[in-house]
Amino acid sequence: MSLFSNPRSIAGVSVSLLLCLPACGGEEPGKQGGSEAPVTQEDLQPQTQLTERPPVVVLGVDGLTWNVMEPLFAQGKLPNLKKLTDAGIAGNLFTDRPTFSPMLWTSIATGVKVPDHGIRYFMEIGENNKPVPGGLPYTSNSRKVPAVWNLAGENGRSVNSVAWWVSWPAEQVPNGRIVASYAAQAQAALLWKPLIMEEGLPELTYPDQLADSISDLLYDGRPTGPLMAEYNERFGITPQEWKFAFLRDRFFRGVFHADRTHEKIFMQLMEGGEIADLNLLYFGLPDVAGHYFWRYRAPQNYTYLVPDDHVKRLGDRIDRSYEQMDAWIGEVVAALPKNAIVMIVSDHGMDVANADDVTNVQSGGHDLAPPGVMILSGPGVKALGLQQRGDRTLGSIYDVTPTLLSLLGLASGSYMEGNPLRDLMTEEWKATNPALEPMDYREGFRKATRPRLPMDNANDLFLESMSALGYVTSGEEEIQKKIDGK
Ligand SMILES: [Zn+2]
Repeated sequence: MSLFSNPRSIAGVSVSLLLCLPACGGEEPGKQGGSEAPVTQEDLQPQTQLTERPPVVVLGVDGLTWNVMEPLFAQGKLPNLKKLTDAGIAGNLFTDRPTFSPMLWTSIATGVKVPDHGIRYFMEIGENNKPVPGGLPYTSNSRKVPAVWNLAGENGRSVNSVAWWVSWPAEQVPNGRIVASYAAQAQAALLWKPLIMEEGLPELTYPDQLADSISDLLYDGRPTGPLMAEYNERFGITPQEWKFAFLRDRFFRGVFHADRTHEKIFMQLMEGGEIADLNLLYFGLPDVAGHYFWRYRAPQNYTYLVPDDHVKRLGDRIDRSYEQMDAWIGEVVAALPKNAIVMIVSDHGMDVANADDVTNVQSGGHDLAPPGVMILSGPGVKALGLQQRGDRTLGSIYDVTPTLLSLLGLASGSYMEGNPLRDLMTEEWKATNPALEPMDYREGFRKATRPRLPMDNANDLFLESMSALGYVTSGEEEIQKKIDGK
C-alpha cells in the first residue's frame, strides 16, 4: 500500500537501524508481517526524516468558552481567534468532572483519566480518596505517566513548554526547553516574592541555564514593573473603596502579570526560528476573569443586586480579557512559520455560578463541566470553521495528546483514554500520515513520588492564593464533596 508497509525494504531497514542506536534491542515483533502489517511508529521513522513536518503550537487557555467568544466574534473583537477558526475547524471539547485545573490540564497533557495520572486535586489525595493530612500541592514528579512533552522529547521531537499546570520541577526532556509552573494562577504570588525574584525559583527551567536567558523577562513581570501600565491601559483601575472588587482586582492583576510574562518567554523561545516541533503555552486569565467578574457582565442572572457603577466599570472585564488573549495569540501566530499547525484548547467552558450567593468570590464557574473550546488550524486541517451548535463536539480532553502525537508523526499511547482526532484532518493528510499502531510508553518512565516544595512555605502561599481565587475551599468535608464531584 504505502512505502511504510514493507519494512524489510533495504532502505527502510538501513535507516531504521541507524535510528535505532542505542534505544532498540534486536528484532521487533511488529515488523514480521507482509504488506498487510499494521504501520508502527518505527516504520514511519525514515519518512519523518525526509519530510518537513509542520511545527505544532498548542495554546492552552483556561476556561475559554464559546458563550463569550461567539458574541465577540460577531462584533469583530477577536480577529485572531476568528481567523484561526475560519481557516480551520472549531467546536466543543468534552471535559470531565470534577473540573479542577491540575487534574484536567494533566489529563489534557497525558491522554489519561485522573486515577491513571495520579494528580487528583490541587493537593495530595490519598488512595482512600481522602485529603492527605498536611498534603502538599502536586508537582510534576507525582505524575504517574509521561506527559506529551516527555513523549515528544524522548522520541526525537524538539519541545518548548511554558507554564503548564503541575510542570514544576521542570522535567529533563531531551531536545526540550521547559519553563515550569509551580502555582499556575497563583504563580505571581510566588515568582515575584522579593527573595525569589532575586534568587530565582529553583528548577524553574530545563535546561538550568535557560533561567538566565529569561531572567530579564521575569524581572519585567514584577508587580511594579512595566506590565502595570499595560494592565491599566487594558483594564482600568478599580477604586480602592470598592473593597470586594478591589481585592479581586489585585489577584486578577497577578494572573495578568504571570500570563503576559509567560507569553513573552514563549515568544523569546521561538525567536530566531527556534520554534520546536511541539510548542506548549498555558494561559489562566479567561478562567479567573470568568470566576470573578461574571456577575458584572450579566447582573440580571443573579438574585442579588449588583451595583450599577460596578457593572459599568467591570461589566466588560471578561470581554476585555478575551480581547487580551486574542492580542497575545495574534502576536504568537504572527511569529510562526506559515506551515505551523495551531491548536487552541480550553479545559472547560464557563457560565453563571452561585447566582444566589452574594458573598461567594466566584460568580462564574464550571462545576457542571460545560464543554471547552477546541480550534485546530493549519496545513492538513479541514477548513470547516466553527461547527454548528448541537453537532459541535470535536472530541474530548483525552484526545488532545493522542492528536498531538499523531501530528508529530508519533503513535498514540495504547493505555490512553482518547484517540487521535484524525477526522479533523483532510483525506490528503490522512493518506500521507497513516494511522499508527498505539504503543505503551509507560515502561521505563520514572516512578511517581510525593510532591516536592520549591521553597519553604510555598505550599501555604499556593493555598492562600488558590482560596483567594475561590478555587480551593477550606474544610475537609467541602474538599471531599468537590473531589467526589458533588
Ligand atoms: Zn476555573
